[in-house]
Formats: sequence, structure tokens, C-alpha cells
Amino acid sequence: MLTSIAKEFRWEMAHRLPFHEAGCRNVHGHGYRMDVELTGEPLKTGMVLDYFDLKSIVDPLILEIDHAFLCDETDSLMRDFLKSSGLKVVYVQFPTTAENIARWFFERLSEIFMPMKNLRHLRIRVSETERTYAEVNGELRVATPESKHFDHQAHMLE
Ligand SMILES: [Zn+2]
Repeated sequence: MLTSIAKEFRWEMAHRLPFHEAGCRNVHGHGYRMDVELTGEPLKTGMVLDYFDLKSIVDPLILEIDHAFLCDETDSLMRDFLKSSGLKVVYVQFPTTAENIARWFFERLSEIFMPMKNLRHLRIRVSETERTYAEVNGELRVATPESKHFDHQAHMLE
């Protein structure tokens, strides 16, 4: 039976939204929270995925951005300021909204989870504050021509 598991991750990070007309254009930080939820068929072990393995997959991505400034590459003001600052900065090709951060994690994590055949669905929820979140979710098992062929054969045998 399809079963979901989830684990919460937290990190501190600074950013700004240059296009924002109110407070978010200023350099500020959040205590980010991310929930990673995986849905799939439990293995013989009774686990969808060992929480320990989930942690060891996600932690390196968190470490990379923890206590960093997440900088949109097009933000030349911050790029110039940070260039020779020696401060921890991670450059990305998108405005650093919670929505885009969730999609960024989804893209990288879905690639890692894709080969794990029992997993079906990934949901990423990123919160900047206690009262808000952005969510991206999608299928991990995309039907390949091969699997369609298999389904068709199975149907013929019925
Ligand atoms: Zn913010």
C-alpha cells in the first residue's frame, strides 16, 4: 500500500528580493524549515526509505546553504558587495523566493530518488516563517515507453 514518510530540516540563511517594493528588498534572513515527504511502496524492511538515508541525502544540500547568503546571479548590487567579502555566498539562477527554493530542492532531490524504484512521489515544502510555506510536488515515476509496453502486455494477459 502506498505510504508516505516525511522529515523536517532546518537552516539559517540570508537573502533579498531585489524586485520587491517592501521589506524583502533589504538583506535579511530566515530560519528556514523544509519538509521532505516521500510516497512509495514500503520495502521488505517495512520502510519506504530509511530516515537515516533520507537525512544523509538531504543534509549535504542543507550544509551548502546554511548560514550563507543565497544570491540571485542577476543581483549585481549584492554580487559586487559579496565578491571580495570572504562571506559565504551561494549563487543561483532564480529569485530566491520560497517557491523557487522548493523547486530547486525538488529538482535535485528527485534526480537522486528517481532510481529508487519503490518511490513514487516527492513533496517539498519550504517555510520562511511560522505561518507560511511554499510547496512543490510531483511524480518520481514517469511512465517510460518500456513500462507502457509492459502494462499493455499485462493487460493482454488478463
Ligand atoms: Zn525573506
